[in-house]
Amino acid sequence: GAPSFQEDQGLSQVKHALSVTREQDFAAWYQAVISEADMAEESGVRGCMVIRPWGYGIWERIQKLLDDRIKATGHENCYFPLFIPLSYFEKEAEHVDGFAKEMAVVTHHRLVQKDGKLVPDPEAKLEEPLVVRPTSETVIGAAFSRWVQSWRDLPVLINQWANVVRWEMRTRMFLRTAEFLWQEGHTAHASAEEAVEETMKMLEVYRSFAEECVAMPVIAGEKPENERFPGAVATYSIEAMMQDGKALQAGTSHFLGTTFSSAQNIKFQNAEGQQELAQTTSWGMSTRMIGGLIMVHGDDDGLRVPPRIAPYQIVVVPMLRDTEEDAAILAYCGELVTELNKQDVFREPVRALLDRRAAKAANKRWSWVKKGAPLVIEVGGRDVAGGNVSVIRRDRLYREDGKLDSQIVAKDAFVAQAAAMLEEIQQALFADAHARLHGGIDRSITSLDALKAYFAASKKQGWALVQWAKPTGAQLDKVVEWLKGEKLTLRNVPVDAEVADGVCIFTGGKAVERVLVGRSY
Ligand code: AMP
Repeated sequence: GAPSFQEDQGLSQVKHALSVTREQDFAAWYQAVISEADMAEESGVRGCMVIRPWGYGIWERIQKLLDDRIKATGHENCYFPLFIPLSYFEKEAEHVDGFAKEMAVVTHHRLVQKDGKLVPDPEAKLEEPLVVRPTSETVIGAAFSRWVQSWRDLPVLINQWANVVRWEMRTRMFLRTAEFLWQEGHTAHASAEEAVEETMKMLEVYRSFAEECVAMPVIAGEKPENERFPGAVATYSIEAMMQDGKALQAGTSHFLGTTFSSAQNIKFQNAEGQQELAQTTSWGMSTRMIGGLIMVHGDDDGLRVPPRIAPYQIVVVPMLRDTEEDAAILAYCGELVTELNKQDVFREPVRALLDRRAAKAANKRWSWVKKGAPLVIEVGGRDVAGGNVSVIRRDRLYREDGKLDSQIVAKDAFVAQAAAMLEEIQQALFADAHARLHGGIDRSITSLDALKAYFAASKKQGWALVQWAKPTGAQLDKVVEWLKGEKLTLRNVPVDAEVADGVCIFTGGKAVERVLVGRSY
């Protein structure tokens, strides 16, 4: 087998906080982070999870920062029902084809006792079944058709934060769940140019949000035809690279053309007095982002949360010993937290917490290390006497000799430096992930044999950017089939890739663009 992470790094004396390392078993490590960091747990319904406060706190930070950006680009929030009449889906064949296999359907509105069991009441059968929304194009389209009459009513720019249900067969916490939380933006425009511009604008919002807030570098690009959203004219995505080299689609933006406006009758009178179909878009980012965060920033001691999205950025752990000194330590820590919360970082107040729980100080320290709080501050009697604090940075936990790196700093100096330290941690996490992503993309592969060899090489599990002729239809199906045999997928055609100047790796024809190939979640 492969050497363990500890052997690899020559850190045999280091005891890591998780029982399984990334190197040993990446999938088991991922589950261990989720449970050891108290992020989420199984619920008893397959594919549905309980999101615990630390996981939900991260989601609330994602919501806040993404919502700010959605509003800054002119969108307003609203809310549509959870249930969608089945007939709404029947209006758009391609869309319903795409989602039919994953739909949960409500057929009754009452239960009755029968033979000692509760069963749906046959007398209470709904006239028309209701679908639990897998996405809301159809119901929002119906509203758009009421709201839009004239060119003066356009554009319509809305967003909703909601839960959706897609009955996925193979589920994994955060990455692919049957019920998930997300935002879905929906817009209607007078022209295709304007709708395409909107699609690209929101792709850029996702890219900058992922990189600036989640410290998650991504490649933004257009999905190939076989990966389009059901009903879309074009689908764009941001793709992030996990530490095992696999790709995660972390957000999508769709240009829907007139697919939904013709199905839902979203028509307007243009300036010349003629009736026209509106051009629509939709775009979504979900709780999957939290799974991505774990696999981009986690290490063998648990999660590392970038300060901008950490529910608490600084956690102060008093080292209490059930002695008279404890009161003074707590007072000192309380004052420290008050001072820290008066500081600003990333144009928001610092979020510091005093951990007053009765647990042992060492257990509290490791619980925050596993949760990935960016700074863990320990304060014992000696620190109080000297006017100091002990600072642990989660992004670099160990000294070179393998010991935990805990720095004693004067309390006032720490308060003055705290914001700068948090900014530095945010930057360091991004720089690490950025180097991994860009170092993990091979751009030199020109033959299928070389492509196979690249992905077969034991530790080489990045992506390949290859030139292709952008095949469509049956030709594309053949390419996708071949890739499937190698457990590979087409990720996207990066918007900023160099132009193609060679031969298509799949067809031997003239290449027209470059496409990313990789394993994926
Ligand atoms: P879509 O409406 O299919 O474009 O999905 C929008 C985004 O939601 C995708 O880019 C994914 O990041 C995310 N997503 C899709 N399916 C799931 C799922 N089953 N669980 C969690 N997130 C999902």
